[in-house]
Amino acid sequence: MSGAAAASAAPPRLVDPFGRAIAYLRLSVTDRCNFRCVYCMAEKMTFLPHAEVLRLEELDRLCAIFVGLGVKKIRLTGGEPLARRGVMTLFQALSRRLRARELDELTLTTNGSQLVRYADELAACGVKRVNVSLDTLDPAAFAAISRRGSLTDVLAGIEAADRAGLKVKINAVAQKGVTEDCAVPLIRWAHGRGYDLTFIEVMPLGDVEGEWSQRFLSLAELRADLAQRITLAPTPYRSGGPARYWQVEETGGRVGFITPMTHSFCDSCNRVRITCSGRMVLCLGAEAAVDLGKVLRESDDDRDVEIAIREAVAQKPKGHAFGSSEARAPRASARPISLTGG
Ligand code: SAM
Ligand code: SF4
Repeated sequence: MSGAAAASAAPPRLVDPFGRAIAYLRLSVTDRCNFRCVYCMAEKMTFLPHAEVLRLEELDRLCAIFVGLGVKKIRLTGGEPLARRGVMTLFQALSRRLRARELDELTLTTNGSQLVRYADELAACGVKRVNVSLDTLDPAAFAAISRRGSLTDVLAGIEAADRAGLKVKINAVAQKGVTEDCAVPLIRWAHGRGYDLTFIEVMPLGDVEGEWSQRFLSLAELRADLAQRITLAPTPYRSGGPARYWQVEETGGRVGFITPMTHSFCDSCNRVRITCSGRMVLCLGAEAAVDLGKVLRESDDDRDVEIAIREAVAQKPKGHAFGSSEARAPRASARPISLTGG
């Protein structure tokens, strides 16, 4: 087939009703995790039955269909993606799509605890960047937040990622009573190692213990607090996501702020999320979801899945349903973030 004929045979790209082309897929490969971070999971979590979780080959098939529809970037997440048994076979399958240039980027978000074991393999699969979640360098605060994580393991994992040549970005969830003290040491440490660091406002997702409003720290408040101790200058730099960046004069590094609760950044949203059971979630902050897993399992014909994906994209909301102020203390979704991934 000629190049022109092949192009005309390709199915039309995914575009939502607001004209946003969907080029980015976040895929949760498991809802399970070796940590129980207080803002993410309840101490006693109920996980999906294994039979409902898509097999790795099913996840790969789904990715292939999305790539065929124009998705160029895939981020694997969870739960803890590196806690899923055999997950490297999925990375290997996706790395073939990278090599074939069907995919531009393959990344992951991880708690870092398994990176000592997997960093080299990830690099060999063509992964160039990794987002590691780390809220504090204080071992006691880390243990209290993660409930069962080891800061030593995470720091060793970050070292291993560095050695493997992966570009590390640190994500920290801002929490009242924690981040005010932890932020400056975290910024200095991250910048000292050449990592960008992004703070994110805690979202009211899932049935976790404790009141969201007790935990919530607005990033405007955090930034004002930081400005007393370090010099922050706004920068036009964008990483392609929702973060807004500030330059730290003392370190020469950048700090990002993601503010789902206090500002909307939905206009440029080009992403969809798939849960590990194949539910396509159009927005992290809205309940709407379409069960692609069911279609995938009932039909061998990828076109049936494509039709379901297009119907789902037609339902993508204009913006999230989170409240715009602390006072409203909303709960936008009962769905835990560990199902969809952050
Ligand atoms: N386990 C991996 C990790 O922790 O990086 C990947 C999954 S985790 C759900 C993805 C991201 O979501 C993490 O950066 C985590 O800190 C963030 N997160 C979890 N619960 C959150 C919440 N309620 N509000 C905002 N971010 C949250
Ligand atoms: Fe696990 Fe990540 Fe949720 Fe923490 S934030 S409990 S590491 S999935």
